[in-house]
Order: sequence, then C-alpha cells, then structure tokens
Amino acid sequence: MTQRATLADAIGCLSDYDPRALAVHDAQRIIERFVTPVEAIERVAIREALDRVLASDLISTIDVPAHDNSAMDGYAVRSVDLVNQGETALTIVGTATAGRPLDASIGPGQAARIMTGAVMPPGTDTVVVQEIVRTEGQIVHIPAGQAPGQNRRLRGEDLSRGKPAIAAGKRLTPADLGLIASLGVAEVPVRRRLRVAFFSTGDELRSIGEALGPGQVYDSNRYTLHGMLSRLGVEIIDMGVVPDDPQSLEDAMRIAGESADAVISSGGVSVGEADFTREVMAKLGDVAFWTIGMRPGRPMAFGRIGKACYFGLPGNPVAVMVTFYFFAREALMRMMGATAIRLPYVRARSMYGIRKKPGRTEYQRGILEVGTDGSMQVRLTGGQGSGVLRSMSEANCIVVLHHDQDSVAAGEPVDCLAFDGLV
Ligand code: AMP
Ligand code: MG
Repeated sequence: MTQRATLADAIGCLSDYDPRALAVHDAQRIIERFVTPVEAIERVAIREALDRVLASDLISTIDVPAHDNSAMDGYAVRSVDLVNQGETALTIVGTATAGRPLDASIGPGQAARIMTGAVMPPGTDTVVVQEIVRTEGQIVHIPAGQAPGQNRRLRGEDLSRGKPAIAAGKRLTPADLGLIASLGVAEVPVRRRLRVAFFSTGDELRSIGEALGPGQVYDSNRYTLHGMLSRLGVEIIDMGVVPDDPQSLEDAMRIAGESADAVISSGGVSVGEADFTREVMAKLGDVAFWTIGMRPGRPMAFGRIGKACYFGLPGNPVAVMVTFYFFAREALMRMMGATAIRLPYVRARSMYGIRKKPGRTEYQRGILEVGTDGSMQVRLTGGQGSGVLRSMSEANCIVVLHHDQDSVAAGEPVDCLAFDGLV
C-alpha cells in the first residue's frame, strides 16, 4: 500500500505557496503529487477492456506476424536473380495465398505467384507487384529497378516475442483491443473502476420536474458532470442536490467520502459561501480552499474527505467544466492508473484579437475549423461569461491563453484543446 500524501506534503513542492493566488500549473502540480492510483486489479475479456487502464505490461508471447509475408499481390522473387537493365524472365513454379503457404523452395530463375498476407516462400526475399509485370504462360517478366526486400513484411515487425506489446498504464483504445487479439490473448488485467460521487450545492437549485420560483435555477451541473464522468468510464454515484446548510452538507460529504474514491461537489466554494463549507471540511478531512489565477474558475477546494480525494468545484456551469477538464480529469485519470494523461494542444491562428492580462490562465470557448488556406483557425463563441453554458455547447474547443501570455493579435497562433477525438 502506497503511503497517502497529506496536503502539506503535496504543497511542499512549491516554494511560494499562496492559496489565495495560486497559478494553474502550481495547483496542477499539487494535485498530481497528492493523488495515488487505485491498486485493485481485475481481469476482463478483450471487449470489456475498452477504455480501461492496463494494470501490467502485456508481454508478447508470439511474433506477429509469425512469418515474413507479402504486403502486396504479385510475384515473390529472389532479388539476386534480378538484372539491373531490361527485364528478368523467371519461371512461375506455384502460388502462395494467405493461410496456404507454398511447400516448394524457390530456386535460381524461379518465382512464385503470391497474394497479400501469404508466407514468403523459402528462398524469396522480394515481392514485385502484379501491376508492373508481364506474363507469358508460366514466364513472368520483371522490369529492372526493384529494391531488394520490397513489399515484404518481416516476421515480428508488429510485435516481437518477449517484448512489451502494450505498457501498463495505457488506457486501452480500439487499436489496443485488436493488438491484444492479434496475440491470441482473451483477457487482460486492468485496474478496477474508479468510484466517483458527486453532488450540487445551492438553495437556489431545483431539479427537473420541479417548478422554478423567483431566483431559482435548474441544476445543470449534475448533468454536465454526469456526461464528463461517463466519458471517463468511472462508476458514478449521483447524490443529488444538497441545500446550503451545514448539517446537510456534512451528511452528504461524510457519505460520499465513505462510498467513493473521489468526491466532486459544485458550488459553495466562492468567497461568500466558503466559510461554512470550510468548517464542515475541517471536521471531515484535509481540504484547502484556493483562489486560482484562472478565468473562469478561480475558487476551488481540494484535498481529502475521509479516504476520498475531494474536488470542490465552483458553481458556475462553465467554471465547473473548465475546472473539471483542467484539474479533476487529470487527477482522476492518475487515480485510474493511467500514464499518458495530458492532451495535446492544436495550434491555430486566432481569427480575431483576444484581450488578456498576463498573470492568469484564461480558458475561452472557441470554434476550431480549417481555413480557406488549409490551416487551422479559431474564433471565440459568443458571450464568454462563466455562467453562459451555451458558449460551451457551441464550442468545439477551449482556447487556452497561458499564465504569462498577453493579449493575442488577430492572426497570432493560440493553443486549443479540441473536444472531439476519434472514437
Ligand atoms: P456558487 O459557486 O455556489 O456561488 O454558485 C455560482 C453560480 O453558479 C450561482 O449563480 C449559482 O446559481 C450557479 N450554480 C451553482 N450550482 C449550480 C448548478 N448545479 N446548476 C446550475 N447553476 C448553478
Ligand atoms: Mg451556491
């Protein structure tokens, strides 16, 4: 069992920690040091392994492919036979197809008809594609200029026996499922699913089906959180709406902390509301309240409730998503045992100028598209207020304006995090 870090340990990595003015990258570092992966492992069949995290290196027990084979339909030849000028005439002595190797060995002056995936007949080392040859009965005429070894797939070029085919910590993709199958393996060890409990806080929140009174809004955060957590493939415990009173919050926190690996709440951490949340948290765990140099976002609580890792996200709907994507997602992936976690940014030309102050990170909602010149360009969606969920719904990316970055001029490149990937 790995020793759990305390918040103080995790914060110790920063020389100038100030919870009221914390840079995004510093908050990310603290979180990274604080969380540890779940240890339990289970074995699952290949199909169930999609999006799960591989728990140990998958070592190949076979070479894939098991034999040198042809990458094309054509003729398998001995490169030593080929002349440098004009044509080489060879006698066709048989045919090799995928799954049906040719028994005979190919001698000087001979060739074999070969199909894609067929084992290279003994003696041959090169495949000449059928489109460029001329045949007359059993004679094939090969033009000059063939490179020795061409169109031949080498034994073990995909996976070689004894070597890791997939490293532990990989979140398994459709390609990985195929790779596992190509080894003839039926089951793989994966980390157990993470359990994540979440709830919304706020006296103003109503659930769907209830009528809205003055000043009341429907609880939307639980649904965005549900969506984001489902995509991560965690087990979800939806605890509903918790009113702004200390006893209700304490009860919800206690139950969540006992039943989950991670707890996420939204709302109740802004300066006006943090005081009573702070008291409850002090009773139940080890939680820091931060003001982060970011927009949207800013207030966030982080630490541990009982044994669970805790994220107190702000209440504003866009801020919830941004803090989830840039803090919680990475931490949860780490807890799931995943290694490659950071998503790559796409660089795109900003179509318009964007005002920005250095000293905080800004996350603007954008639309990324291919411009008429073929290069990527991005423009912001309408109103960028942290409560305007529509800006997020219309966007296909988040434009990340980094901590030290200043205003962006039209035409300057910016970093974008695209929402959609391949399935
Ligand atoms: P808070 O962080 O609790 O001060 O909330 C900030 C803003 O977000 C307020 O306008 C809240 O009404 C709104 N808000 C908080 N929680 C939710 C929620 N679950 N769904 C929709 N809006 C919310
Ligand atoms: Mg609130």
